[in-house]
Amino acid sequence: MLQLFDTARGQIVPFETREPGKVSMYVCGPTVYGPPHLGHGRFSLVFDVLRRYLEWSGFEVTYVSNITDIDDHIIDRAREEDRPADEIARKCEKVWYKGMDGIGVKRPTHDPHATAYVERMVEFVAELVNKDDAYETSDGVYFSTDVVADYGLLARQSIDSLRAGARVEANEEKHSPIDFALWKKAKPGEPSWPSPWGHGRPGWHTECVVMALDLLGDGFDLHGGGQDLAFPHHENERAQAVASGHEFATHWMHNGFVEIGGEKMSKSLGNFTNLLDLIKSTDPRAFRLLVLRGHYRSPVEVTKATTDDASQALRRLDEFARRAGELPDGEPDPAALDEFRRLMDDDLNTPGAFALLFTLVRQGNQALDAADDGTAASVLATVRQITTAVGLELAEARPPVTADDGAEALARQRDDARNAKEWDRADALRAELEALGYVVEDTAKGTQIRRS
Ligand SMILES: [Zn+2]
Repeated sequence: MLQLFDTARGQIVPFETREPGKVSMYVCGPTVYGPPHLGHGRFSLVFDVLRRYLEWSGFEVTYVSNITDIDDHIIDRAREEDRPADEIARKCEKVWYKGMDGIGVKRPTHDPHATAYVERMVEFVAELVNKDDAYETSDGVYFSTDVVADYGLLARQSIDSLRAGARVEANEEKHSPIDFALWKKAKPGEPSWPSPWGHGRPGWHTECVVMALDLLGDGFDLHGGGQDLAFPHHENERAQAVASGHEFATHWMHNGFVEIGGEKMSKSLGNFTNLLDLIKSTDPRAFRLLVLRGHYRSPVEVTKATTDDASQALRRLDEFARRAGELPDGEPDPAALDEFRRLMDDDLNTPGAFALLFTLVRQGNQALDAADDGTAASVLATVRQITTAVGLELAEARPPVTADDGAEALARQRDDARNAKEWDRADALRAELEALGYVVEDTAKGTQIRRS
């Protein structure tokens, strides 16, 4: 059974689902005002891998990840560029999915847009105000954090220490420095929606709690995001759910940061500043491999050097998949798959799973070298199961050559020429084959040709 570290409980616990065989998960999506950065890429991959592994294990997964399409950042950018905020959001959402598709992250089952839920959010805030769990000020509506007895659960701090540590803000109308906005009253010219407190827009924490409860219902299984979201964002989502009498997520999962090294923006090191930048110059599968070779709760360093290293490791996997892919299909090794499951079930030990994968590839290559085709084919079947479970697509064996263009005959003529040591004729035949679009390789069995 899968065990995961739970942020609220501070330990690794069994991942129990509300309904047998089904998983409901909510992962906080982007605020769409710029291109996705490497941290976005990482959290998306971490939760994509969890989702894929659960699906591979036979669960039916409902994966919700929102699009925050109204927010201060979007409004600021709209003002800078003198364009409507919704145009910025639409454009940046396209760029977001370009990045996510690029790194092979499966699209969510639902991607609710905050602007489509404003009416429901207004109702939710009104309920909290009516219960005196929230109050109106001159610039919005705020949540009273002291109505939630265990506020600070995800921060792993008491409410008193959070209150003591909070930055004192200019807004003196707030009852407590850690109270947060549920509704923001609009300033002139800002996009806004009607509400009992005048025109305005919902606060970010309110958006997620309303959309998560609407699409997944009370007591859904898992809420996730980068570790920077645990407090205050997830804490505040949870506080609103608790105050309004809803059971919220059963399990909280957070991933570690991306580090881009000391020379953060150094172009001379060729390091990447955002995700699109990275996938333009690197096989996106290498980024997935790099992320998976680290544990999801540890930081991962994404630089030119670490992605190059991951690309090299990826080549080893591809090469084996190509070589062994020419053999008849084999059966996966159940013992190796059990070991893979044992590792993944231990708080998603993907570094362990990748060590296992590379051990298998080494064994597979040895079997190929020893012409032990049966073992090699079985190893490949195991490797393909594992890489499928974590969403890493390996190279296929190149399609067999069909002889309809006479290439096979040219290859045999080239063998004859080589046997006769007629090197010029052999070279000319190679050139002819290459011009037809083949890669020509000299092997112990003679000239082998493949579609390039
Ligand atoms: Zn959220």
